[in-house]
Amino acid sequence: MSKAYEQLQPYLERAQAFQTAKVLFEWDNETLAPKKAGQNTSKVVGTLSSEYFSVITDPQVKKLVKECREEDLGQVEAAIVRELAEEMEKLERVPANEYREFSQLASEGTRIWADARRNKDFESFAPTLKKLVEYTKKFASYRAKEGQKLYDVLLEDYEKGFDMETLDRFFGTLRQQLVPFLKKVTESEVEIEDDFLTGDYKDEDQEAIGRFFAEYVGFDFDRGVMAVSAHPFTTNLHNKDVRVTTSYNRHVDDSLFSVIHESGHAIYELGIPDELTQTLVGGGASMGMHESQSRFFENIIGRNEAFWVPVYAKLQERFPQQLEDVPLEKFVKAINKVEPSLIRTQADELTYSLHVMIRYEIEKMLIEEDLDVDKLPEIWADKYEEYLGVRPKDAAEGVLQDIHWSQGSFGYFPSYALGSAFGAQLYHYMKGQMDFEGLLRAGEIGTIREFLRQHIHQYGKLKTSRQMLKEVTGEDFNPQYYIDYLVEKYGRLYGVTM
Ligand code: ZN
Repeated sequence: MSKAYEQLQPYLERAQAFQTAKVLFEWDNETLAPKKAGQNTSKVVGTLSSEYFSVITDPQVKKLVKECREEDLGQVEAAIVRELAEEMEKLERVPANEYREFSQLASEGTRIWADARRNKDFESFAPTLKKLVEYTKKFASYRAKEGQKLYDVLLEDYEKGFDMETLDRFFGTLRQQLVPFLKKVTESEVEIEDDFLTGDYKDEDQEAIGRFFAEYVGFDFDRGVMAVSAHPFTTNLHNKDVRVTTSYNRHVDDSLFSVIHESGHAIYELGIPDELTQTLVGGGASMGMHESQSRFFENIIGRNEAFWVPVYAKLQERFPQQLEDVPLEKFVKAINKVEPSLIRTQADELTYSLHVMIRYEIEKMLIEEDLDVDKLPEIWADKYEEYLGVRPKDAAEGVLQDIHWSQGSFGYFPSYALGSAFGAQLYHYMKGQMDFEGLLRAGEIGTIREFLRQHIHQYGKLKTSRQMLKEVTGEDFNPQYYIDYLVEKYGRLYGVTM
């Protein structure tokens, strides 16, 4: 091992420890922590954040990184140093006092947003949002390379190699092909019945069946736990401790598919090798690649008729009253029903990425075109009407529905749609390599999971999403696979063509 790298080790371990503790508090906050803990815990989290900041920006670390870069490091060490250098530059460019102000604003922002959403009152959130946009633009300008657009700086944080030019092309393809196709689907004569998915589904039964399905798709309860939170999410501490959450309501499919979705995220993290875990490269390659795995499990596997062949009886047994008389075919149609709606997180597979496209277009206007924040609710509503044919009646079901902007996260949303498209490209390739549906019908998900582990999970952050996609499928990112997948599947279901 290089001497400089050896000296860097203890700093890396300290940074990792602060980060892990912070993440664990965040998980706790959303699950088990008592309601009144929030403010005091925030102080602890604040201290952990600034400790992390000071380790990463320590002059000694900077010196060692420079030395490491001149030495011949192994692949993993080189990648860790690269990640560290990037993180250092990101934090260093922003003056510490401005960073602190922004962090505080973002944490208050979330509270103000939550109140505004509850009261359906955009105006009470608008001044905070304006400030968050200003900070975001200012920070991006500190970090922009010469000639680089501000929104491109932000996009790069979540998905390397996907700038506005690439995304304009991606979303342009979706707009041109999916919007008219969706119109045909919604105007088709086919009526899909799904009322049996809503009803008296007891929480404890949903939990039991959720645990069954998590395990069935490959979640390892010896290295992970499942809890309840308002919105489902996954937290990764290391490859022996990955935590997922879910929530229960009267719609059984909500918890069922959120469990499978979060299991997809978790399986990715559980597939990170020991050699990489607890380092700066010991996590998923990117937001988009992460979402590609969760949405792969949720949709390409979980909403596939073949998936249900061996296990539908299990679900019926647990809920005889609701599902005994519902044949498999009818159930599978119901879980794939298309219904343009207002809320992204409840969207069906076909309309999902159009929700994301709207957010992308608006973020671009906010960051690049100085869009007036006060005009947001109307622009939001107009776009929903244009692309999805629905119009929110208030801000809560419109512009206030997502938490991201209140946390100062701009540039995050596109990853959700990219992930779906990555997944479809992988699926296309995998079908040529294995009898995908045959494996699902035989209950052999392990073979599919192992393919993903070998080709994606095991690399952690050693490669970018785009590199990996190219290496696995032999082709650069190509959104047409995603469109083709959706048009084939939903065209069949609704008896329409492009
Ligand atoms: Zn997700």
